[in-house]
Amino acid sequence: MTIRCKQQERGKQAFLVGSERMAGVEYTVEHVRANGTRRFFCSCPDFQYRKIRRKRHCKHARKVATLAKVARGISRLYAAVEELQAAGTVAA
Ligand SMILES: [Zn+2]
Repeated sequence: MTIRCKQQERGKQAFLVGSERMAGVEYTVEHVRANGTRRFFCSCPDFQYRKIRRKRHCKHARKVATLAKVARGISRLYAAVEELQAAGTVAA
């Protein structure tokens, strides 16, 4: 599952996460911090389905959340992925 930076602004980081099943398809995973809460959003159909059913996040959001934990923060993860991109490597 590939991950690339999309956009970072105050209180929000957006990543492009590749689909495992469909080559060339990427979903936008957003991490939004507002009013003391942090939430993930994903543009994939599975996320919409899970949101309605109040299930766990889709695998794209979970992937970003896991990587953020390893990187010790979503901003640090964004910076690390950006660095890899600049070096011509896309994080897996
Ligand atoms: Zn998703």
